[in-house]
Amino acid sequence: MSPNRTAKIISGKELSAEIRAELKVDVSAVAKAKRTPGLAVVLVGEDPASQVYVKSKRRICGELGINSYAHDLPVTCTERRLLNLIAKLNDDPKVHGILVQMPLPEHIDEQKVLNAVDPAKDVDGFHPLNVGKLLNGEEGFVPCTPAGCIEMLLRSGYDPAGKHVVVLGRSNIVGKPVAALLMQKAPGGNATVTVCHSRTKNLSAITKQADILIAAIGIPEFVKSRMVKEGVIVIDVGINRIPDKTRKSGSRLVGDVDFESVSKKAKAITPVPGGVGPMTIAMLMKNTVEAARRSN
Ligand code: NAD
Repeated sequence: MSPNRTAKIISGKELSAEIRAELKVDVSAVAKAKRTPGLAVVLVGEDPASQVYVKSKRRICGELGINSYAHDLPVTCTERRLLNLIAKLNDDPKVHGILVQMPLPEHIDEQKVLNAVDPAKDVDGFHPLNVGKLLNGEEGFVPCTPAGCIEMLLRSGYDPAGKHVVVLGRSNIVGKPVAALLMQKAPGGNATVTVCHSRTKNLSAITKQADILIAAIGIPEFVKSRMVKEGVIVIDVGINRIPDKTRKSGSRLVGDVDFESVSKKAKAITPVPGGVGPMTIAMLMKNTVEAARRSN
């Protein structure tokens, strides 16, 4: 390890502000040509983390001039009631995007709910039709966190084309779609992709080969400096709360990467917080504006 290297910080805070400024212009253009973009944000229950995410999504809608429609349902809400609401939002011409905040209470089938959203309003990109389109390389809606990861790389000058990208995690919301995007024969793609997961053997031998490492496993500070090569570019998707007695709140957020040690070896790295998180919201807004632009 070279002790003197300090990685460039890829700031999601700064990049997302740049994107939001661009989107503000797009929102007024769409509003003039068609109608003001509208996003319905559905929250079921009172999960504190979900409440925080929903609050910032609604706030940023306001900042960009996107109409935000709040639907807060009690934790006891039935699956039928939620599906009825989605059917109403699907038919509402003022609503261009529908976001159902996950996770849902256990008595509600998440996939059934995601399948009920009109694919043309599926700004989260989780409907099977959009998942299929992504794999086919067709125009649809791309999930926001994976899209945010690619956008961060491109806007920071780290084009994944021709690079070996190692993805840690194979979830439907991050690992799989980010791997699909990286494989595309399109800008932001053309990478050689290896996907690792909980059953991968000799993980370090693989992560050490990465030119770009994308970590999305949900284990605090899992990736250590001995697991990466000198000069790697690191995108840390993880958001984990760990106890910290020095903080007033008694806890703090960390990623899936041990920032302290890995940043001494990496060429560039995203911080947590202030990394992928704000990019996810920016991409949600981008998808909403796009949905409004495509609407009749
Ligand atoms: P998940 O729990 O659905 O999936 C975790 C994945 O990690 C699984 O595919 C599993 O196989 C893999 N995994 C688990 N242990 C492993 C190990 N030891 N080695 C290699 N792989 C292993 O998680 P998720 O929903 O994809 O989220 C991952 C992390 O990203 C979480 O911390 C989550 O909070 C965060 N996240 C952040 C954003 C954002 O906007 N920044 C968005 C979504 C998720």
